[in-house]
Amino acid sequence: MSRVVTLALVLFVWGLAHVQNLAGQDLVLTNARIIVGNGTVIDRGAIIIRNGRLASVAPGTASVPGIQTIDAYGMTAMPGFIDGHRHVNTGPNEKQQMQELLDAGYTTVLSGGGPAEGNLTLKDHIDKGLIKGPRIIPSGRVDLAENAPEKARAEVRALAKQGIKFIGEMALTPKPGPTAKELENLRAIVDESKKVGVWIQIHAVSPQAMMAAVDAGVIKLVHTPHFGWLAQEDAQRVTAAGVKQLSTIGFGVPVFGVFANDNKPRFRDGKPWPDAIIDGEGRGREAGYKAVNARTSWDAGVIYGYGTDTNYNPKAGLAHELKSLNLMFSIEDIIKLMGPNTASYIEMSDQLGTLEPGKLADIVVFDGNPLEGYWNMLRTKLTIKGGVILSDQR
Ligand SMILES: [Zn+2]
Repeated sequence: MSRVVTLALVLFVWGLAHVQNLAGQDLVLTNARIIVGNGTVIDRGAIIIRNGRLASVAPGTASVPGIQTIDAYGMTAMPGFIDGHRHVNTGPNEKQQMQELLDAGYTTVLSGGGPAEGNLTLKDHIDKGLIKGPRIIPSGRVDLAENAPEKARAEVRALAKQGIKFIGEMALTPKPGPTAKELENLRAIVDESKKVGVWIQIHAVSPQAMMAAVDAGVIKLVHTPHFGWLAQEDAQRVTAAGVKQLSTIGFGVPVFGVFANDNKPRFRDGKPWPDAIIDGEGRGREAGYKAVNARTSWDAGVIYGYGTDTNYNPKAGLAHELKSLNLMFSIEDIIKLMGPNTASYIEMSDQLGTLEPGKLADIVVFDGNPLEGYWNMLRTKLTIKGGVILSDQR
């Protein structure tokens, strides 16, 4: 074959792949109950997706010539799940782990930590189409406990240069409270983060650590405190500071049936509950603190979103966090918490969190009505990211 013909063939095949890719981002989902995420529910409606974005979300049915149409047969569509704090990284099992996240309904994950390079590699593998996966927002870490302010600042700048927008997995000593050194480093990195346009996220698991973080200028908290009660006045101060907080309330609640089917309560790492709970008061009281403090934050008006701080099976982790949230929140609250509030936490409110025209077409479809109970959010049938079906369990 001549070189010209070979080149033409290559271009032709590349062109086909390109066209297919674009076609995959156009889709019609019709005959669905649509939970928009802004308080609106459309009992029977249709979603038209063009170029990976929501072109129309409206009552009635729809079909567009030349675009693949999916009949939802009355199933429910809602915004794809976002986990604001989930431990993911690159590695030999990344393909399977990412598919498990998609199968559970997750379309966006803010990496909870691990080496920044590994997070960036994972994101790259997904963006290039080497593996299927949710939208990954990589993160990095700066040490607070042993660092010096100037070095901590330099680390923030280096991470920003790598393309990291979220710096996290940094904890403050919960009791008796953060050390002077931790706070000195924290104030330095908060200041530096503003200069280079990145976000600082803190693990503050006691009310005193939480308030110290807020006073140091932190506006992203990855945990609900589980080491003491959060006072209403403090929660109001957190709200006034514009703080966004993630749930992770399943952290205190025993996990069953994931690590072994022996009916033994376990912490999220598979070790015995409550003994293995990190940084708490003991005897499992962390579960109570988490749940009640969650409601205190919510009622004070904190932008309260969804995060699991897990790395075990995503569907089991979803079931666990939803079960824990269900103790204190209505399903309407949970929908707001998971959708718009978590989109706000990851600073993507204009792109994600609700099914409104113009936003990215990230959709999860369930065989069941979540408005009748959170457990119907576990009956995932379709996961669509940017208009592309990445999990089909129909
Ligand atoms: Zn974490």
